[in-house]
Amino acid sequence: MEEKIFEKTPREISLSRAAQLKSRIEDYLDIRDKIPKGMSAEQQEKMKVKKEKILKLFNATEEDWKDWKWQLKNRISDVDTLTKIINLDEKEIKAVQQVQKKFRWSISPYYLSLIDDDNKFDPIKLMAIPTKLEIEKKSGKSDPLNEEFTNPAGSITRRYPDRLIINVTNECAMYCRHCQRRRNIGSDDLHQSREIIQESLDYIRGNPEIRDVLITGGDPFTLSDEMLDWLLGELHAIPTVEYIRLGTRTIVTMPQRVSDELCNILKKYHPIFINTHFNSPIEITSEAKEACEKLANIGIPLGNQAVLLNGVNNDKFVMRLLNHELLKCRVKPYYIFHAKKVVGTLHFNTSVDEGMEIMEYLRGYTSGMAIPTYIINAPGGYGKTPVLPQYILSHGKNHVKIRTWEGRVLDYPSIPSKPIEELLK
Ligand code: SF4
Repeated sequence: MEEKIFEKTPREISLSRAAQLKSRIEDYLDIRDKIPKGMSAEQQEKMKVKKEKILKLFNATEEDWKDWKWQLKNRISDVDTLTKIINLDEKEIKAVQQVQKKFRWSISPYYLSLIDDDNKFDPIKLMAIPTKLEIEKKSGKSDPLNEEFTNPAGSITRRYPDRLIINVTNECAMYCRHCQRRRNIGSDDLHQSREIIQESLDYIRGNPEIRDVLITGGDPFTLSDEMLDWLLGELHAIPTVEYIRLGTRTIVTMPQRVSDELCNILKKYHPIFINTHFNSPIEITSEAKEACEKLANIGIPLGNQAVLLNGVNNDKFVMRLLNHELLKCRVKPYYIFHAKKVVGTLHFNTSVDEGMEIMEYLRGYTSGMAIPTYIINAPGGYGKTPVLPQYILSHGKNHVKIRTWEGRVLDYPSIPSKPIEELLK
């Protein structure tokens, strides 16, 4: 016989609590399977059809498709080719033609194959194809973080005491319409020269407090294997550099880049960390998953830096699903960035409250592993500022008042510690 507490047994109380907990996510469970996903059979079939269309148009083979150099070389950047692959109405075509006079666009054949023609507001299409919204609003800054003023040498950006960025290229597999570094894209692909990179390396050698170096761009995985091998080797040989990070969206926009050859290079220079940039569960396809797994299998921890984007992921359930799908690919959701006021991208901006709502419906509703930090990049380059819902409601002398994820308000003891030496006297 189980002992009764308050007229109920522990098992009865547990069952009642379990039912209550389940009810907390019923709304998500109802909608989860209706959110478009890259791994769904329906999406995979649509991609297959689009891929065959592209291969036929380019007179290319399956082997070509798997080759990242073919993908990069055959990025689609003219309206004629684009309209042979996806359906655009006259207004949409006109918008692309107008935008391209001001902002560059280019899309890898792989990423183009993800677009769903049946959905006019497809998140992939929003991230890839220019719309009139890019030129309608004239406001926004080209460099809201004042990166121009944080470049002490070579192609370095330094905003923090112990770490910095080396920008190695402005080239990407796709020029995302929401790009927060749009000013770098320009009209031509430009890899930094060895001289500029040497200057950056010399700066790191001369500043031994730099223990963490992030290689980014553009996208560093558009560099050749040889160049990456050389740069990683140089950084790895600097004794004060404790680890190297790479920021790449090719896992999402051109997963073919994660070749066996690249993996053989990367694994020579541990510890290496890679952060990527998935924004939608639709981007998590079997190809992207395979690329993540290849990197995880050579011992590289993977993180995701999503950007909160209107029409793409500013929805508490879409973001929850995205984080779950990432973990299935061994990618830890790391940051959600609040989109900055970058010229040409203002239509993607959301309110901070929308981001806070997403965070509110992650904590407690899903595992801590699936909860990234929501970040506002302080204007002027003053650094990443974490933003989170308020869980401490007030401070007392020896207690705080906390709010749990379910909204229960509780007192919690908070007694100042005494030095351990005093306690052990
Ligand atoms: S891959 Fe990154 S840097 Fe390149 S366009 Fe997209 S968001 Fe910008």
